[in-house]
Amino acid sequence: MADSRLEQVADHVWWFTPDERSDRPSLVAVLGERQTAVVDAGASAAHARAFLDALAPLEPAPLRAVALTHWHWDHSFGAGAYDAPVVAQRETAAEVARQASLAWDETSLAERVRTGAELEFCADMLHVEYPGLAGIEIALPHEVFDAELTLELGGVTCRLVHVGGDHAADSVVAHIPEDGVLVLGDCHYPRLYASREHYTPDGLRSVLVRLRGFTPVRHVIEGHGEEALDAVGFASQLARLEGAIDRVEELGEEAIGTATSDDDRETLELLLAGFQA
Ligand SMILES: [Zn+2]
Repeated sequence: MADSRLEQVADHVWWFTPDERSDRPSLVAVLGERQTAVVDAGASAAHARAFLDALAPLEPAPLRAVALTHWHWDHSFGAGAYDAPVVAQRETAAEVARQASLAWDETSLAERVRTGAELEFCADMLHVEYPGLAGIEIALPHEVFDAELTLELGGVTCRLVHVGGDHAADSVVAHIPEDGVLVLGDCHYPRLYASREHYTPDGLRSVLVRLRGFTPVRHVIEGHGEEALDAVGFASQLARLEGAIDRVEELGEEAIGTATSDDDRETLELLLAGFQA
């Protein structure tokens, strides 16, 4: 897999694509006339610096903020590398503070994996991003919001809106209305921190209702998606996920027989796993 690329998504929005080798997520910059906002800090200072280096030729206006979509390490641990306030939803800030209070040496991390407090997948990816687990420094958010915060950047705004959901109760999306862009973070993904990965019908439905509220949008960036979605692609993804909930509620285990694609089958399996998680 190639390194992350910086792609222009819309007039003011640039996307640093994800890199699955260490689970680095999408990073997004919103370039206003007066100020710049970054959405998601990244997995490490190295990830953040690679993004900032890629942005530098664009000569962005000074950074107003780096906003976190949720607390997970791959989105938040790079926050200290930005010369800007870290902005986060209140639950995100609390959970980042809890992460900062933990020990990140080999023994402590292995013990958390053993007790189920940490996922083996995250521990494996942390070892790729931080060889020998060296250099993990967790910056605490400086500005906290509850439901919504709007960053006025000059000619463009970045609205941070708490949507919650199964993946992380603190999940926030970034909406750039002038450009018709929606940055999802991981909000529509399943819950990982559980005895098994799963969706709940209510958790998935609640986040889909929130996402419908932003439509129509022209460009959608997912936390770990390799391609940005256009309006049609996003509408079909929402419809597929909504349809999966309906089929699982109606048919139970037999919903598997209705799968229309590998993605659909996976969603149905994750929803059924939610009944046993
Ligand atoms: Zn996540």
